[in-house]
Amino acid sequence: MDLSRFPRRRYTPFVTPLEFLPNFSKALAATCPGGQGPDIWIKRDDMLGLFPGGNKTRKLEFLVADALAHGADTLVTCGAPQSNHCRITLAAAVKEGLKCRFVIEERVPNSYNADASGNNFMFRLMGVEAITVVPGGSNMALAMQQVVDDLAVEGRKGYVIPGGGSNAIGGLGYVACAQELQQQLFDQGVQIDRLVVGSGSSGTHGGLVAGFLGNHINIPIVGIGVSRDPADQDPLVLKEAQAVADLLGMNMTIPREAVVSVGGYWQPKYSVPNPAMIEAVQLLARTEGIPLDPVYTGKIMAGLIGLARQGFFKPGEKLLFLHTGGLPSLHAYESVVLGAA
Ligand SMILES: *Cc1c(COP(=O)(O)O)cnc(C)c1O
Repeated sequence: MDLSRFPRRRYTPFVTPLEFLPNFSKALAATCPGGQGPDIWIKRDDMLGLFPGGNKTRKLEFLVADALAHGADTLVTCGAPQSNHCRITLAAAVKEGLKCRFVIEERVPNSYNADASGNNFMFRLMGVEAITVVPGGSNMALAMQQVVDDLAVEGRKGYVIPGGGSNAIGGLGYVACAQELQQQLFDQGVQIDRLVVGSGSSGTHGGLVAGFLGNHINIPIVGIGVSRDPADQDPLVLKEAQAVADLLGMNMTIPREAVVSVGGYWQPKYSVPNPAMIEAVQLLARTEGIPLDPVYTGKIMAGLIGLARQGFFKPGEKLLFLHTGGLPSLHAYESVVLGAA
């Protein structure tokens, strides 16, 4: 597939590493039926560029290029109080000499604290221009349009990036990732049986579904919901994958069965810790020295662990876990993740 006709900024000057996790695979297998579990590989998208990177970096390469093509001087986006997406968007704005404003949605009432550690600290360190805090369930598109209207009064031009950077343009970042992965598997001589990825605002999962289909990569993808169970999540992912396919001119309807997600690991609520997340964060840190985060990748890995223990994967199956980043929010939950698993 030809991505070269879409404007793109480059924020990562290398291919993210693809590594086998021998100690983690062994420790997990010991807790699986018959002492046998999957072989787990990881793709380190937590090492993408910007401050520090994560999956949003890939989406922003295309989104910011589009903002620049439209002559914008300010990026306007939205997220939860500890939003990785807001932090990485701000880093991209700083790098490009743009201003950046956020609308923060308090999905958990009174959870926004300007002095908090983690991403909030980085918002201030990198000099966000303005933050509007709105209650959970607010119309975020409307709130962001209001920011753009305010900027227009001053003769400035805002560019709205939706939550998580998940629209058709942002999803191109994960089509690019699919292509990078395809080449990398060939170069490293690795065969993968299944990809495990987080599924939230859906640009990552949906972009990968479109990218795998468009590039004839026949590796099934299982998404782990971070805020919704499949009845609500799958339609979102399908819509995103279709939007990406349409933008690429793929001329196909994404088959419903190409989208598979699993629920049950994000509860009690988006961003609120649970014991399986704590176990997952501790296990990967203590077997491989790789940090996960409490809001996304800890719960996504808890999903992988849970499915392995239920015998969902064939013994010896080669799984690839996509590490989507989120490290800064770990610091906002230090005592929680050190707690008893
Ligand atoms: C945003 C995010 C996700 C979810 O990706 P979506 O594209 O929103 O579905 C997963 N992991 C981390 C660390 C994130 O910041």
